[in-house]
Amino acid sequence: MANSTDQLIRFLLPRTHTRGAIIKATHIQAEACRIHGLPDADAGSPGQLLGQNLSASILLHNDLGLLLEAMPGCDDARWFETLECLAKITSHDLEKEPVDILTAFESMQPKVVGKDAYTYHCACNPEDMAKTLTAMPAESLQGLEDETGRITLSCRYCGNTHHIKVG
Ligand SMILES: [Zn+2]
Repeated sequence: MANSTDQLIRFLLPRTHTRGAIIKATHIQAEACRIHGLPDADAGSPGQLLGQNLSASILLHNDLGLLLEAMPGCDDARWFETLECLAKITSHDLEKEPVDILTAFESMQPKVVGKDAYTYHCACNPEDMAKTLTAMPAESLQGLEDETGRITLSCRYCGNTHHIKVG
């Protein structure tokens, strides 16, 4: 899950004093649900509105997240005008290239102000894990080794499994 390239596009909607970001990231929905303690929604369902108030709104669909945030000068009328555009985005629109989704906000003259591609890479490695294990009292490791003398550990961040030879 950790090796695909993710994308972040930051944009401004100058007419309604709003800014936002489109994030394309592997398992963004599952991760958001995990972090916020929500039941994992059906990934195939239409976009899900997680939170909506005057200051910020987020729309999640498959691997895509779209965030909007009111800036100073954004009154109720401007904010709801922006949300109206957000509400009209269909799940079909969300399958497009992230930057093309901005056409939904065309009447607000969207301006892309930044684009980043990034790849999440977990820093876990068997050498560091071996050091940690070596520092543990030998008796607490007893019974954890398999028939080849290795201990299997899985990283709590990326889920990768490492087989570590201790000693
Ligand atoms: Zn890891």
